[in-house]
Amino acid sequence: MSHFNIRCRECGKVLENTYCAFCEHCAGALLVTEYKEAEFRAGSPEHGIWRFNWLPVHNPTNPVAGPAVYRSEGLARELGLGELYIAFCGYWPERGGLVETCTFKEFEATTVVENAMENDVDGLVVASAGNTARAFAYHSARLGFPSIIVVPKMCLGEMWYLESSEPVSTVVVGDGDYSDAIDMAKRIALASGWPFEGGIKNIAKRDGLGVVLLEAVPVIGRLPGHYFQAVGSGAGAIATWEMSERFSRDPVYSGRLPRLHLAQNLPFAPMVHSWRKGQRSIDDEDLRTELIGQITTRVLSTRYPAYGIKGGVYDALKATDGAMYGVSNQEAFSAMELFERSEGYDIVPAAAVAVGALRQAVEQKAFAPDECVLLNITGGGEKRIEADKRKREVRGVFISKGASDHEIEELICQIQKRAC
Ligand SMILES: *Cc1c(COP(=O)(O)O)cnc(C)c1O
Repeated sequence: MSHFNIRCRECGKVLENTYCAFCEHCAGALLVTEYKEAEFRAGSPEHGIWRFNWLPVHNPTNPVAGPAVYRSEGLARELGLGELYIAFCGYWPERGGLVETCTFKEFEATTVVENAMENDVDGLVVASAGNTARAFAYHSARLGFPSIIVVPKMCLGEMWYLESSEPVSTVVVGDGDYSDAIDMAKRIALASGWPFEGGIKNIAKRDGLGVVLLEAVPVIGRLPGHYFQAVGSGAGAIATWEMSERFSRDPVYSGRLPRLHLAQNLPFAPMVHSWRKGQRSIDDEDLRTELIGQITTRVLSTRYPAYGIKGGVYDALKATDGAMYGVSNQEAFSAMELFERSEGYDIVPAAAVAVGALRQAVEQKAFAPDECVLLNITGGGEKRIEADKRKREVRGVFISKGASDHEIEELICQIQKRAC
C-alpha cells in the first residue's frame, strides 16, 4: 500500500496506488500527489528531508539535508521588513546549510532518483543548464544509479561537479542553448530506452522541490503570507503552491495560501510578459533566442516553462493572487551585493534575482511591512565549497544538436560501454 495517490488536475481522476511519476493522464495537465495523511508530520532530524510524510518515496536509502531556514535580521532591517524568513538552499555549515551541491536542485534530484529506483527504472536521461546536472551527478554517483546528463556547451564555463560525483556520463551539446539540450536529452532517451527525467510532469521532482516549504512552515509556525523565488521552468513555484495547498488542508496550518512572487531575469522573461498581458499562452517574440544571450542567469533560461499547462504557473499565480517581477542584470548584481553585505554570505545569481524582486515589491509597497515573507534563496555557498577545494570541472562527450540518429546510437554505445 502506498501512502499517496495521484490525481489529475484536469479531470479529477484519482490513480490509486500508482507509482508512475512520469505519466500524463489528460494531455496538457499536471498530475498532483495526494498524500493520504492530511496532517503534516515530521520525524527525527537524522533522516533529513525523509522525515517528512509528504514525499513520494517509500523506503529512502540516502539521508539528505533540507534548506536552512532562519529569521533574517540584516536583510530584513535593510528592507524594513518585520518578519522575513530565509530558506537557504546551499552550503553554509554555520547556519546548518548542508546542501553541498549548493542549490535546491538537490531536493529534486534525490527525490527523483529514489523514486525512480523504487519504480525499477534502470537509468535516467536528464537535461540541465548547470545546477540540475551537478545535483543529479552527485546523487546518481552516491546511489549507484546511472544517469546520462545532457548540458549545452554555452553553460560549461559556469558548471562544476562535486569531486565525489564520478563516475557519471555527461553529454555536451556543442552548439545551441539549454532548450536544445532538452531536445537532445529527449532523443537520447528514446534511443537508449531510459526515460527522460520528465521535467515538470514528474511528481517526484515537484514534491522534492516542495521540501523548502516542508522545512519552512514548522520553523515559522504557520504558512507565510508571501513567497519569493526566481523561476525558470516554474517547477519550484508550482511545487510550493501544491505544498501550500496540502498545509492549508491541515487544521493546524490552515489559512490563506502564500502569495507567489516570482521573478525572471530581464530581458529574457517570458512568464513576466505573459502574466502582464493577462495571457495563459506565451508569445514567440518573448522566447527569442537572442534574449537568452543577454541574461546572467542561464539556469533561468528555458524556453519551455510550465506556464500555461493546467496546474502550472499561470494557475498557481491565479490561485494565490500572485505577481511576477522582471529583474535586470544590474539589479541582480546589486541584490547579490545587498545580500552578501546584510546577511554575510554569497548567493548564486539566480537567487539574487529573487532578492531583486523582493526589493521591488518593498518599493512598490506590494504588502504591509509587518507581513510574513519567505524568501527562497535557491542557491548559495559556492565560494565556501571552492575554498574547501571540493569542486571539479565538468568534462563530457560532445555531440551536435543536428546529430543523426546513428550518431546518437553510437554515443549511447560509448556511454553504456557496449558494442553497437
Ligand atoms: C533551477 C533554478 C531556479 C529556477 O527553478 P525552476 O524550478 O526551474 O523554476 C532558480 N534558482 C536556481 C539556483 C536554480 O538552479
